[in-house]
Amino acid sequence: MVGAHIAEQAGSPPGHPSEDARAGEPVIVFDHVSRVFDGRNGQVKAVDDVSLTVQRGEVFGVIGFSGAGKSTLIRMINGLEQPTSGTVTVLGEQVSGRSESALLPLRRRIGMVFQQFNLLTSRTVAGNVEYALATAGWPKAQRKARVAELLDFVGLGSKAKHYPEQLSGGQKQRVGIARALAADPEILLADEATSALDPSTTSEVLSVLRRVNEELGVTIVAITHEMEVIRSIADRVAVMDTGRVVETGRVYDLFSRTQHSEDAASFVATALKDRPNAEEIARIRERTDGRLVMVSLKDSGAVSAVLGSAEGRGVRFEIVHGGVSATKDSAYGLLTVALTGEPAAVEAFIADLSAAGDVQEVQP
Ligand code: ADP
Repeated sequence: MVGAHIAEQAGSPPGHPSEDARAGEPVIVFDHVSRVFDGRNGQVKAVDDVSLTVQRGEVFGVIGFSGAGKSTLIRMINGLEQPTSGTVTVLGEQVSGRSESALLPLRRRIGMVFQQFNLLTSRTVAGNVEYALATAGWPKAQRKARVAELLDFVGLGSKAKHYPEQLSGGQKQRVGIARALAADPEILLADEATSALDPSTTSEVLSVLRRVNEELGVTIVAITHEMEVIRSIADRVAVMDTGRVVETGRVYDLFSRTQHSEDAASFVATALKDRPNAEEIARIRERTDGRLVMVSLKDSGAVSAVLGSAEGRGVRFEIVHGGVSATKDSAYGLLTVALTGEPAAVEAFIADLSAAGDVQEVQP
């Protein structure tokens, strides 16, 4: 482990107590937090009465359209933004209402990576990471080994002497991660960390973030408008819409549901592309007059077994829409099927499908 190893090697203060022993402990608590800005056209409630808890050791994702309030929310964790009302408690200490100088010791325990990387262009890769160590008060003699260790961890050991402009976007973000980890933080905040990257470099950065969580035990809060980020690294997710958290839960549970709150539905449908939109439903209706049902593939074997029994029961089914995606620890999907046959047979068939998966009829 980068943290434990360096503590031993450099004789620096002992690392965090065993992460396993403290897993599940609340490390970030928002209690009825609101943040109001004075905008040109009146007041904007960027964050509106949010209460949520992030537990030690998890990757917590916050997703929503642009303007939903995600950046304002994450910036309140390290005090870059202060709530108008409510309290934010991080690592047992209240952040809200603290002065800048009183925030400094807490900020050292929280790393942050940014969409635009925010690297110092006049410094080398190693120089960028070393700067963070110097700021955190690391003695000069110990910095070099720590920089090397961090760059190895993010796979950039050979780029130490390069300048940011010589790196790809994914490499720049990996330097950003190394820098954020420099002082051995307990929490890492990722603010749209992959939004400036193309899909292949996105996965390279996400895999580093996953290792930061799994191998170093760092709690991660990632805000993003990209479903891919949530799907690949998050354990739990909050969906934000106009300042409010409209749905929250384990990633798998949330996205394998066929029904969502009205506020979350449009975001989830757009992000997942797993269910037909109104236009697609109209096109499907042109070619079939069967009953349209969406079925979640929580247990794809059970759903397949019911679909496989259709012919023997005088029911015809056609898959008209669907897809399966992998999450961090399982797969989920939604199939939309058109069912034709005797109404009673179709009804009984739908009842059996409901026992195998979550079923919702698509309204005409
Ligand atoms: P997101 O990160 O989801 O895109 P933001 O937190 O950046 O959302 O913004 C939420 C809302 O608050 C938006 O309407 C935005 O215009 C407004 N907002 C954010 N920061 C400020 C600010 N400093 N002054 C005025 N309005 C702001």
